[in-house]
Amino acid sequence: MAQPPPPPSYQPPGPAYQQTATVVVTNPQYVRPLIFRENPVSMSCPFCQAQIVTTTTYTTGTFAWVVCLLLLFFGLWLGCCLIPFCLNGCKDVLHHCPNCRQQVGKYSRM
Ligand SMILES: [Zn+2]
Repeated sequence: MAQPPPPPSYQPPGPAYQQTATVVVTNPQYVRPLIFRENPVSMSCPFCQAQIVTTTTYTTGTFAWVVCLLLLFFGLWLGCCLIPFCLNGCKDVLHHCPNCRQQVGKYSRM
């Protein structure tokens, strides 16, 4: 007696891949255009997410160098060309977070 052939293995269709709609939540970054000037700015720190008022420090930027060169050009070279390095009005302003000490902005005069 020949054995009856095994019944054709019937693979039940597996669970169809659930079409999970991958909703990519594009967080619309609401970026308020922050304009950094010489004065401290109230903002939320992008590094530590704290609501802060920036601390400002003056740094010698391009503008100070340009003024220096201009003063040199006009003959004010007896140390006068160093004036822009002493005047805060000629310097760039760096804004730092008082919480995490990260630089959060810069005001460049150029
Ligand atoms: Zn911070």
